[in-house]
Amino acid sequence: MATIQVNKKYAFRWYEKFYFMSITAGLWVTLKHFIKSAFLRRMVTVQYPEQKKPLSSRFRGLHRLKRNEKGQERCTACYCCQWVCPADAIHIVAAEVPPERQYLHPEDKYAKVFQVDLLRCIYCGLCEEACPKGAIYLDGGLPLPADSRDALILNKEQMLEPTGGPIIGERL
Ligand code: SF4
Ligand code: SF4
Repeated sequence: MATIQVNKKYAFRWYEKFYFMSITAGLWVTLKHFIKSAFLRRMVTVQYPEQKKPLSSRFRGLHRLKRNEKGQERCTACYCCQWVCPADAIHIVAAEVPPERQYLHPEDKYAKVFQVDLLRCIYCGLCEEACPKGAIYLDGGLPLPADSRDALILNKEQMLEPTGGPIIGERL
């Protein structure tokens, strides 16, 4: 029968077998946080969503579709973002701009459907980098919890910035 030699350096010492020191160290950490938050008011958590912590400048949030300085949709449905997306999270259906909507679009083609599946998206930012029109940015807010898969598929109306001027950098 084979025997396993345990290096003495890694073997348990007799007092370690009672786990007394580990349990005490764990309880001490818990007690320190309890004293800090209950008596010293030095909370390490915030009451989200009423309270929000500042986001990092490198934070990537929900996708936003931008308008140009004339208020037109910048996206021209070129499919670059859909092709580059490694998670297959973007679904676009292109269409020709009808005559009565021409003032809303800079070119002849527009995205009739533009969806982003937040359950597939890995927030890599490649769609933002690939877009030749500067139309898509990940500068929206945090994804909110939802109780169905459909609720986590963003559609164009949810992503498109409202008319009345660019809001680049605005957080939801
Ligand atoms: S951030 Fe990345 S994964 Fe998400 S939609 Fe854009 S390219 Fe796809
Ligand atoms: S968001 Fe940009 S890359 Fe994506 S389809 Fe529109 S113009 Fe093309």
